[in-house]
Amino acid sequence: MHIDRLARFESPDYPVLSVYVNRESLHESVRARLCDLLKPFKAFSNLDHDAQMSLRNDLDSVIGLADRIDLERSPATAVFACDGGGLFEYVPLSTPVWDVAFASDRPYLRPLRSIRHRDSVVVAVVDRRHAWLYSGGGGSVRLLEVIEESESHKGNFGGFSGYEEKGARNHAEFLERRHFRYVADRLFELQRKLGFGKLVIGGHEETSARFESFLHPYLRARLLGSFVIDPHTMSDVDITDRANVFLLDASHEAEEALASRVSVTSEEGGRAVVGLNDVLKAVNNGAVDHLVVAGRFTRGGVMCGTCGWLERSGENCVACGSEMTALGDVVDAAMEQVLRRGGQADQVSVSSPLDAHGVGALLRFSVRVA
Ligand SMILES: [Zn+2]
Repeated sequence: MHIDRLARFESPDYPVLSVYVNRESLHESVRARLCDLLKPFKAFSNLDHDAQMSLRNDLDSVIGLADRIDLERSPATAVFACDGGGLFEYVPLSTPVWDVAFASDRPYLRPLRSIRHRDSVVVAVVDRRHAWLYSGGGGSVRLLEVIEESESHKGNFGGFSGYEEKGARNHAEFLERRHFRYVADRLFELQRKLGFGKLVIGGHEETSARFESFLHPYLRARLLGSFVIDPHTMSDVDITDRANVFLLDASHEAEEALASRVSVTSEEGGRAVVGLNDVLKAVNNGAVDHLVVAGRFTRGGVMCGTCGWLERSGENCVACGSEMTALGDVVDAAMEQVLRRGGQADQVSVSSPLDAHGVGALLRFSVRVA
C-alpha cells in the first residue's frame, strides 16, 4: 500500500476517482454496487473536455475491475484512478470499510486511514509439558514454534538433584516450574526479537494462572488475558479468533479512552476542541496534535486551492483571497492536513461522548475559537 504516495498526489487538471467497495454484507453483485456508486459521476458537467475524458476512462476502468474485486480474498478493495494524471492504484484492504466514491483533485483516503493497524500479538498456549507459540498481526496468527518440556533440561535451568527424595509429586512440580521458566524466558527473547505489542495466553485455566506468574514484568504489562482451550484439538483458526477478541477489546478500550480524553479536556477548558467549526479553525491554525472523528461523521465543505484553508462554506479564502473549491468531505481534508503537519488522526468506531460533536481534537496550543 502506497498511502504516503497517494497522500502526496494532487491533480489540479484531472479529477482523481477514489472508490471503496466491500464484498462482505453485499446484497448485490460487485458490478451492480460499483455502477450505483459511480452513477453520480457519469454526468459531471462542470469539467472541461479533457478532464471529462479522463474521468470517463477511469469510470470504465473501475467498472472493468468488478470481476477481479469479486474474486479477491480481502473483504474490501480501494481503487484510485486518474487517467490524465497517470495514477492507477488497486488496493485490497484487510478489513471492511464503507462503500463510497469521490472525484476530487486528490485521492480520498479517509476509509484507508480508518483501518486500525492491529497490534502484533504472540499467543502462548501452555500445558505442563508443551508450549505452542503463535505470532501474528493484521488479523491472523500462525504457529511459530512448539516447545517440549525436555528442552528445558538444556541450559541453565537447573537439575532436580537434592529434591528427588521428596517424591514424584514434587518432581512433577519441579519439572513444570522448569518448563514454565524456560517458556517464559523464550517469550521474553521473542519479544526482544519480534517486538510484539500484545501477549495472550491459552490453555487450561489453572495451568495458565500458574504460568502467568513466571512472566517477566515487561511481558505481563503486555498481557491482554487468557482463554481456555484444549491444546489437542485447537487449530490456527481457533487461536486467531481468540486472539482477535482480545485485540478488538483492547482497541475499543483505547478508542474510548481517546474520545473521552478529547471531550473531557474540552469541557474542562483545556487544550482540546469539539465540533466541526472549531476543529476546522484549529486545523487552519496548525494547532491540531490529534484529530479524532466519531465514526463516519462526514460533512461537505470548501478548501482554498492556494493555501489549503478549510471552511464549511464560502467562495473566497479568508486567509489569501483565492477561490475556494468544494469538497465532498471536509473531515477527510482536515485529517490529511493534520497528518501532513506531523499530527495524528484517528476515526473511532465505538460510541462515545464525541458522537454528539462528530469530531474533536487535542491541540498543541490553545487557539481562540470564539
Ligand atoms: Zn487561501
